[in-house]
Amino acid sequence: MTDQPSHAAEPSPPGEAKRGDAMLDGAALSARLPVARGRIAAMRPLADLCWLRVGGPAEALFQPADRDDLAGFLAALPADIPLTPLGVGSNLIIRDGGLSGVAVRLGRGFNGVEVLPDHRLRVGAALLDSRAAMAAAEAGIAGLEFLRTIPGALGGAVRMNAGCYGAYAADVVETVTYLGRDGRSVTVPGGEIGFGYRSSDLPEDAVIVEAVLRGRPGDPAEIEAKMADYIARREASQPTRDRSCGSTFRNPSGYSSTGEAGDPMDLKAWTLIDAAGCRGLRRGGAVMSEKHSNFLVNAGGATAADLEGLGEEVRARVRAACGIALEWEIRRIGLPPREAAS
Ligand SMILES: Cc1cc2nc3c(=O)[nH]c(=O)nc-3n(C[C@H](O)[C@H](O)[C@H](O)COP(=O)(O)OP(=O)(O)OC[C@H]3O[C@@H](n4cnc5c(N)ncnc54)[C@H](O)[C@@H]3O)c2cc1C
Repeated sequence: MTDQPSHAAEPSPPGEAKRGDAMLDGAALSARLPVARGRIAAMRPLADLCWLRVGGPAEALFQPADRDDLAGFLAALPADIPLTPLGVGSNLIIRDGGLSGVAVRLGRGFNGVEVLPDHRLRVGAALLDSRAAMAAAEAGIAGLEFLRTIPGALGGAVRMNAGCYGAYAADVVETVTYLGRDGRSVTVPGGEIGFGYRSSDLPEDAVIVEAVLRGRPGDPAEIEAKMADYIARREASQPTRDRSCGSTFRNPSGYSSTGEAGDPMDLKAWTLIDAAGCRGLRRGGAVMSEKHSNFLVNAGGATAADLEGLGEEVRARVRAACGIALEWEIRRIGLPPREAAS
């Protein structure tokens, strides 16, 4: 730890927490939080930190200065206070009532990238996936190209076992380092993590701080060309410029699309959504994209309740049409708006 000035919780400007704030008590929570060098904000709105631009506030948002700061904070955090790690919110609907407890968002102290021998990269959990892919390309490390088009950060990629075009985080993770709820650092070999389709079995409140990724030797120009091809494929088939979280529901086949011609994984969520007549279906400002029907989009003015409600309506219609229960891929966390909860 250094002796930089510490920040106690900052009170939020009046009216900052728009919805659900009566269910959260930022001032009372803040009084119980350990002092830290990083930033702690009470009742901090989270919508601007999420791709869908919806959701209520965090009762407290902690942005640690560095790993020591995070470790000290976690070690002193009372055990009854809920802890939620956030990435860059590209796979999250935070409900309108907000998040109780402490949300942790990693920033500058966690976005390093270092080229290691044997075609490996050490990456901080806050580093964007695209940055990791670009650093790998520059260093002539092949195998990480798929990360170029996934808009999250590395912590979220590991947690979600993010993947596309036939490759997954699980294929390239050599080790993951996380801080447990008690602040202790744990490093786990990738092979010992139970990775599944869009999942991993790391403890829910573990804060991933770093990963070592392993690729293979490659020609930078060929790696660049592959990444450009992935970007072009995305642009052609997905509403990449809209506010979404990517695929809303898992493919019932249990695989992400490889994007290859003749891909045999034909049981895709979007085909079921189309068959149930849900392409373009709307609720408030939420819409199932006309361009890719498994993308739930905030077309303007949507609430988290609109988005989640529309998703549930799609699930019900698909189940009625073909008997298959779609499973959410987007994580929905937090409290419903107060009026819905009472
Ligand atoms: C346009 C678009 C396209 C997408 N395409 C794909 C795709 O092709 N393949 C794919 O797999 N996903 C895709 N996604 C979804 C999303 O980008 C991935 O799931 C991504 O890995 C989420 O990372 P994040 O940093 O945004 O995490 P968040 O959305 O912030 O969080 C997701 C989960 O990870 C946890 N988490 C985040 N950071 C940490 C951390 N440091 N420690 C512990 N837990 C953490 C959170 O608690 C949460 O449970 C897409 C999203 C968009 C918007």
